Amino acid sequence: MQEKIDKLVRPEIRALAAYHVPAANNLIKLDAMENPFSWSAELRTAWLEALQTVEINRYPDPAARELQVSMRAAMAVPASAAVILGNGSDELIQMIIQTVAAPGRVVLAPDPTFVMYRQIATVANMGFVAVPLQADFSLNECAMLEAIDEQQPAVTFLSYPNNPTGNLFNADSLRKLLSRAEGLVVVDEAYAPFADASFMPDIGQYDNLLVLRTVSKMGLAGLRLGLLAGPPAWLEQIDKTRLPYNISVINQATGHFALAHGEVFAAQARAIRTQRAALMSGLQALKQLTVYPSEANFILFRTPRGQATGLFEGLKSAGILIKNLDGSTASLQDCLRVTVGLPEENAAFLTALRELLQAG
Ligand SMILES: *Cc1c(COP(=O)(O)O)cnc(C)c1O
Repeated sequence: MQEKIDKLVRPEIRALAAYHVPAANNLIKLDAMENPFSWSAELRTAWLEALQTVEINRYPDPAARELQVSMRAAMAVPASAAVILGNGSDELIQMIIQTVAAPGRVVLAPDPTFVMYRQIATVANMGFVAVPLQADFSLNECAMLEAIDEQQPAVTFLSYPNNPTGNLFNADSLRKLLSRAEGLVVVDEAYAPFADASFMPDIGQYDNLLVLRTVSKMGLAGLRLGLLAGPPAWLEQIDKTRLPYNISVINQATGHFALAHGEVFAAQARAIRTQRAALMSGLQALKQLTVYPSEANFILFRTPRGQATGLFEGLKSAGILIKNLDGSTASLQDCLRVTVGLPEENAAFLTALRELLQAG
C-alpha cells in the first residue's frame, strides 16, 4: 500500500504535518485563543428554544441570508461590500486560494504568521513565499514591497493583529502594500474584538482588498463561522468555489441567535482586554522573560535560552496547557504563547510559571 501512496499522493502533501491539536484532558486550557466564558443558563435555554424551529430535514438557505444580515451588522461591513460566509474563516482562506490557484503562482505572507496560509497554499499546489518580520515582529515594509514586486503573488495574507506574535502591523505599511500589489491582499482580522483597528471601512478604496473575520476568537469557536468581505466583483468569483450549503441550518440559527445577543460577547471581549493587561503586567514582572505587546487575546513571550520546552512541560505538569512555539520557526526560538483566560486561570498560570522560573 505504501508504494501506491508514494506514487499517488503528491510529495508536498506527504511532507505536510496534519494540523495538530493536543488533548487538553482536565488541563486549564490556555493554548487555543478560545473565549473562556461559558453561557449563562438563561442564554442556553433561549438558544435551545430558538433551535426548536430549525427544519433539520431541509437543506439550509444556501446563501444564509438571515445570518448574513446579522453578521454584516455585527462586523460593521460597509453597505457597498459583498460578503461570503464560511465554515470558519479557514474555509474562506481555502476558497480565496482555490480561486486564484494555478501552477507557478505564489501566496505571500510574513513569517511568523498563521500557519494555515502556507498549509492551504501547499495543498492547492501553489508556491508560498515567507517574508521574515523584523526582530520586534513588526512588518519589514521594504522586504514586503520587494517580494511583492519580484514574486507578483496572486494573494498576500496579513493577519491583523498577527498570530502568533499578537502585534498590529503598521497601517500605513499595509496601505503601501495594498497600493503596490497587483494580486489580492487579505487582511485577516480574526482578533478584531480585542483590537482598535480594522481595514473593514477601507473596502472599496482598493480594488484588491479583502477582509476576513471570524466569530471563533470572539466566543463561538465551536460554531465554525467566518465572514469574508470585499468588492462584489471579486466575491462573485470566489463564491463559485464554495460548496453549496456550507453553513448548516444549526449554524445559521445559532449564529443568528448569538449575534442577537452581541452585547454578551462585547462585554466578554472587554473583560478579556482587562485580563490581558493584568496578565501582561504579571508576565513583565518576571524579569527573565521578554514579553511582546499584544492587541489580541493572547500574549507571546520569550524565555531564557533553551528553557521554553522545560517551562511548557512544567506548566503542563502543573495542570496548565499553553502553546510551545519553540522550534516552529527560527525567530520563535524559546517562545511560548498563552491565551488570556479567566482571572483565576491567569493567576494559576502566573504562579506556576513564577515557581518554575525560580526553581530553574
Ligand atoms: C484562529 C485564526 C483563524 C481561524 O479562524 P476560524 O474561523 O476558527 O477558522 C484565522 N486567522 C487567524 C489569524 C487566526 O488566528
